[in-house]
Amino acid sequence: MAKDPHLDIRWSEESPAELNRLAAEAFDVRLEPADRPVRLVVEGRCPACRGQLRHVQPIELFLGENDEDEDIDSYRAIVWCDCRMWHRDAADGVTGCGRYFGLDIKAAGR
Ligand SMILES: [Zn+2]
Ligand SMILES: [Zn+2]
Repeated sequence: MAKDPHLDIRWSEESPAELNRLAAEAFDVRLEPADRPVRLVVEGRCPACRGQLRHVQPIELFLGENDEDEDIDSYRAIVWCDCRMWHRDAADGVTGCGRYFGLDIKAAGR
């Protein structure tokens, strides 16, 4: 029987550099659909509480109407822990351990 690896750490809104580094390795980051991405999908385990998270956010940066003006080939996405568990000291109705991570997302094919 697999033990739930989730850690019941205290809720805290922070983004330590060490966790950012771990997050970059732990997360599976995809742009969907691959040929003309409209959303960013991040899946993996939160490096802080080890909860499984899935984060989907629309991206419009790569699809701007003024492609020629701004050659954006990467941007920084902020991904909050959303492990769906309640952590100590979190506000009512708030799930996740409060940690957030900055991920550098690269546009495909540039
Ligand atoms: Zn958690
Ligand atoms: Zn977490």
